[in-house]
Amino acid sequence: MKMHTKIFIGLLGGAIVGSLLAMLKLGQAAAYIKPLGDLFIKLLKMITIPLIMVSIMAATAGFADLKKLGRVGLKGVSFFLISTIFAVSLGMTAANIFKPGQHLDPEKKQALMAEIRTNADFQKQIDSSVGKKKKPADFFLDLIPANPFAALAQGDMLAVITFSVLLGLAFSLIASAKREKVLELLQAVNDALIALVKGVMKLAPFAVFALIASVVTQFGFHFLLSLLRYSLVTIGVMAAFLFGYYGLAVLFLARTNPVHFFRNLSAVGLLAFSTSSSNAVLPENMISCEQKLGVNRDITSFILPLGATINMSGTSIYHGVSVVFIAQVFGYSLPLQKQLIIILSATLAAIGTAGIPGIGIITLAMVLGAANIPAEGIGLIIGVERILDMCRTVLNVLGDSATALIVDRSEKRREQRQRGIIP
Ligand code: ASP
Repeated sequence: MKMHTKIFIGLLGGAIVGSLLAMLKLGQAAAYIKPLGDLFIKLLKMITIPLIMVSIMAATAGFADLKKLGRVGLKGVSFFLISTIFAVSLGMTAANIFKPGQHLDPEKKQALMAEIRTNADFQKQIDSSVGKKKKPADFFLDLIPANPFAALAQGDMLAVITFSVLLGLAFSLIASAKREKVLELLQAVNDALIALVKGVMKLAPFAVFALIASVVTQFGFHFLLSLLRYSLVTIGVMAAFLFGYYGLAVLFLARTNPVHFFRNLSAVGLLAFSTSSSNAVLPENMISCEQKLGVNRDITSFILPLGATINMSGTSIYHGVSVVFIAQVFGYSLPLQKQLIIILSATLAAIGTAGIPGIGIITLAMVLGAANIPAEGIGLIIGVERILDMCRTVLNVLGDSATALIVDRSEKRREQRQRGIIP
């Protein structure tokens, strides 16, 4: 049986068992199976940081031509930015058209808002996020780790990426005999880490079962009903973006059949949905893009870790719809100038959103702050946060895979053109 089928069975089984436990009011039982899911996520995260570091160093040290590295980086980052801006704008446009916030009755609004007041920890995180206003210069300075080991220990992905690229480049400056030895070692460690991921992936169907069963028992279905219009708009735009925008980009820019793309990455998508963590899925995404879609390792090693950190189309759509929704409920108008500020701040917020569960709702506070909308509006949507996090992570992850494929195919076409194979 194929891996994605096994994972799908795990997901379905988890949903059924979780619903049964919730119906029988035995929700606490899920606490006994959830550790299996947590174990799986921890094992994957354990591999993520060393894999990023080693694979980026191996890729940059092996990039024979530095111009190619610059070109690949530029193409990837440009496509990430275009996708993010488009995603926020589409989310806002859909919320402006379907007006989910204008159909919420005041009683429901009070009941939903009460939710955030009972959650002091969450309130604290929101408050600190609103107060955090970075200067543009800080953003660039933060890319350089003063202490690379601290960056590794804290999982500061962008800083780890910068250090790995620089050290990898430095390897290309040393004597070629020495460089060959280092490259061989890096490739060997990379292969060993990949073998480790494959071993951990054997747990995937069981872990997905445990994660989904526990989410379903905790999930407040009544929230979904009172926020049905908002949830449907958010999930609908995400689905349209995944299959429409990325599907067409894969077809026209990568000249690859989108059905082939989605079918080969279905296990990656299901894992993203179940774990809500781009970082946890990163190792499997790197392996699948390379082995199933034929993307070169130097491209997956570079584009996918970068994408897992800065490219969050799902989170961007979520930010776009949510800001307009909260403004509608509170009766704030959003003139064009404010909408532009929202697009800009949501783009920065998406870059600042780490690929771990539930961060998008924290960075939403930053976007609300930039538009002068009270951050307590987040209380309205906290009840459906988990399910929306699961959905946006799918888009965040597959958006990175699509970008890696597009950059890879454009590089391959360029090579063929240079060799005169194609005009
Ligand atoms: N959970 C998302 C991810 O890992 C980030 C978010 O909370 O929006 O991609």
